[in-house]
Amino acid sequence: MGDTPYDAGPVAALRRIAFLLERAREDTYKVKAYRAAAATILPLQESELRAHVEAGTLTTLPGVGASTAAVVTEALSGQVPERLAKVERQHGGPQVEGGQELRAALRGDLHSHSDWSDGGSPIEEMAFTAMELGHDYLVLTDHSPRLKVARGLSAERLARQLDVVDAVNAHVADQGFTLLKGIEVDILDDGSLDQSEEMLGRLDVRVASVHSKLRMDSAPMTRRMVAAVANPWVNVLGHCTGRLVTGSRGTRPPSQFDARAVFEACAEHGVAVEINSRPERRDPPTRLLELARDVGCLFSIDSDAHAPGQLDLLDHGCARAEAAGIDPARIVNTWPLSQLREWATP
Ligand SMILES: [Zn+2]
Ligand SMILES: [Zn+2]
Repeated sequence: MGDTPYDAGPVAALRRIAFLLERAREDTYKVKAYRAAAATILPLQESELRAHVEAGTLTTLPGVGASTAAVVTEALSGQVPERLAKVERQHGGPQVEGGQELRAALRGDLHSHSDWSDGGSPIEEMAFTAMELGHDYLVLTDHSPRLKVARGLSAERLARQLDVVDAVNAHVADQGFTLLKGIEVDILDDGSLDQSEEMLGRLDVRVASVHSKLRMDSAPMTRRMVAAVANPWVNVLGHCTGRLVTGSRGTRPPSQFDARAVFEACAEHGVAVEINSRPERRDPPTRLLELARDVGCLFSIDSDAHAPGQLDLLDHGCARAEAAGIDPARIVNTWPLSQLREWATP
């Protein structure tokens, strides 16, 4: 213990611990403690930190307790902090069998939420974690206005959010990462989209999802989904069946629709069928995933993360895509940013 060299510094160590604890669904307060300590020491000079270590006064800093102070001290001494080594051992490996090669080929993620809608973390926290995961891009896709339970963004709030995205990008411009402007827009009952054309036109990538009237009859649901997919603004069809297979929200059966007709519309209009990586969704179900593959659809493997630690859920989607034998070239988030932007522009 304590004899492995470490040069990433105390902020990276604290953030990595928070990420791994969150990914493992540990208590939020623990996760927050590590992130808070990282935020406190981020602006401090290394010499200041070393003086605190020397004087034994790290714990007088706001948000720094005994265990976070130990991490800082060990990281500063150039050793892997014991706590970090432990959580890496416990939680650091791949989350599922298979899909590792595909995961390594992914350059980004097209579906994520911040605390502007129903996510739990600020925009910059999501962006920084995506950078730490090695992504070239992350699309921020908070919800649209009708989804009130998720604090969906009005056109005005979305416009304000776009300024924040610009500010984040200005901050990280030299680091090879881009936070893309996006939305998870509700598909309304008639297949129209829950955001103005003007705002949709200001975004880089648009995910469209059904969140209401999931039990609609098959014929009108098919018309609804085909209409949305045919809309030139739509790039990704989110979690197409809406099913929940496990988890704290209980289970929910898949919506009924003519999957072949919907996927043929996706293929015709170049819309990617989302492979939603959340374990409680596993959407589309395997039979539909294989149908979309055979119909010739594009795919997007998305985390649908509502917290930074969930950005790593992509492992699950990659394992499923690999098992279904989907060609990585048809998965839009294996593409470089320029190709992705070109595809997403109507
Ligand atoms: Zn959704
Ligand atoms: Zn979502």
